[in-house]
Amino acid sequence: MEDTNAQRMQHEVVLIKGDGIGPEISDAVKKVFHAAGAPVKFIEHDAGMAALDKGDDVLPESTVEAMRSVGISLKGPCTTPIGKGFTSVNVGIRKSLNLYAALRPVRSLEGVKTRFDDVDLIVIRENTEGLYAGIENEVTDGVVASMKVATNKACHRIAHWAFRYATHRQRQKITVFHKANIMKLSDGLFIKEARNVHHQDYPNIKYEEAIIDAGCMRLVQNPGQFDILLLENLYGDVVSDLCAGLVGGLGVVPGANYGDSVACFEAVHGSAPDIAGKGIANPLAFIMSSVMMLNYIADEKRDESCGKVADAIRQGYNACLREGFKTGDLGGELSTADFTQELIKRLGKEA
Ligand code: ATP
Repeated sequence: MEDTNAQRMQHEVVLIKGDGIGPEISDAVKKVFHAAGAPVKFIEHDAGMAALDKGDDVLPESTVEAMRSVGISLKGPCTTPIGKGFTSVNVGIRKSLNLYAALRPVRSLEGVKTRFDDVDLIVIRENTEGLYAGIENEVTDGVVASMKVATNKACHRIAHWAFRYATHRQRQKITVFHKANIMKLSDGLFIKEARNVHHQDYPNIKYEEAIIDAGCMRLVQNPGQFDILLLENLYGDVVSDLCAGLVGGLGVVPGANYGDSVACFEAVHGSAPDIAGKGIANPLAFIMSSVMMLNYIADEKRDESCGKVADAIRQGYNACLREGFKTGDLGGELSTADFTQELIKRLGKEA
């Protein structure tokens, strides 16, 4: 039988459907990929409640190993039971695979009305340290302590990653949000390394610092004054959601976590237990994350066809939004499945 191009170029990707709305939005991505002819073969693994329910660990070693060996994964939101001694699945994955850089592009979308119509921000979050290092202990009865970890290695690494990203993407400016006026050593190290990387290697990219509370105020007054935001772990988590609010909410912000040779794509939102199983979740943030993944595959594996499929899907969802086909979180009336069908009808049909 003739070995067609389509048969040869099937890229393996680990898919973790996740918990809550995870299976619904994963199903949407699978349908869209199938309709768009994405040259991707999903290998499914579990984590979170889905793994526990099958009698496995909350983060099975086999899942981490598959993510590591395949190198590319698409991950739905995973729930970690609180107060039962489990380490967060998300934190566990990022630490085990050393996925140190989280990238969240936050852009206004035509057809999604918000206070601002020209938001174009990139949030870059350090993913492995800070308070999310998870070093907590009970000092004595009724007194607990959490340790905020910062190392010059990780601070330097994320600063370098951010400036390199800015250069490749021709972005103009990086702003570090910090609280070094209070956390002089930990946040102090974060900005010291960012300053060094800027001075030594990337003097042509503008660099500024903002104390995070004032920075958040400026962000909601006029997001256009920022370009790339660089933050340590906890600040990055919080500010990502704030930025999502500027463009329509958690249903429209994708994300990626990068290490040196492994990448994991996931939406910024969580498992949204309040709407799980109702068929009303917005699958767009996860679909957008899968588009980022296709573009990554196109670059890494030098497969142009992935870039073309990514463009077609992006054009499809842009057309849906512009024509008013939206889920409830964006003021529309479509279910997850109906939005997915409308997107499929419009694949690659942007005017
Ligand atoms: P985490 O701590 O894991 O980030 P969370 O509990 O803070 O999770 P989410 O699960 O992201 O938050 O949900 C926050 C709110 O946003 C919920 O009301 C949820 O229903 C809503 N939401 C999140 N994602 C979506 C989505 N894809 N579509 C519609 N609503 C969503």
